[in-house]
Amino acid sequence: MKEITKEFRLLPEEAVVCRDNKVGDGANPIGLKNNELILTNQALIHVKKDLFGKTKEVIRYPLADICMSQGKPQVLLGKGDNVTGSVDVFLQYETVNFKFEWKTDAEEWIASITETVTGEKVERKSPFGDMGDFEDLMNMAESVTGTVKGLKKAFGIASTEAVACKCPSCGAPLSGVEDEVVICPFCGASTKLKDE
Ligand SMILES: [Zn+2]
Repeated sequence: MKEITKEFRLLPEEAVVCRDNKVGDGANPIGLKNNELILTNQALIHVKKDLFGKTKEVIRYPLADICMSQGKPQVLLGKGDNVTGSVDVFLQYETVNFKFEWKTDAEEWIASITETVTGEKVERKSPFGDMGDFEDLMNMAESVTGTVKGLKKAFGIASTEAVACKCPSCGAPLSGVEDEVVICPFCGASTKLKDE
């Protein structure tokens, strides 16, 4: 059962896993900057502070009180906008909601709580998304490069790209700028340079 006290105190053998000093609760999201959330190997502890930073109330939710489903603690990303984060913790007697400054903080806390409860490592999402996203980005960059070239041509902007090709009449190597007309020094044929 949860325990409400006036001061923050760790129990014997209790160790802090992580803490965040800007965590609000669902009932008072405005109090974001004054509340601290501490995860220990035994409990989630919400330290509520007044405007002057003085501890008002300490609520201790034992990790053993968190509902489990298929071996996982029911600690889920709550409703929020896309920037701030919200975590719903389903306890046997109530559901508490914590508000975080950033959505990534909320995701990190869910992973940390899950790891502490189950003792198993949780895979973190890469900050760059999965590799599929990365490949999409590379393909997009590549197609944009092609598009820029196409657009330049469409608007009649002369290309400044250096190209090398062979004279179509005698096969001598020719070089210059793309779309430039060059006279072959060997056979005298005029050729418009094309990117190959
Ligand atoms: Zn030639």
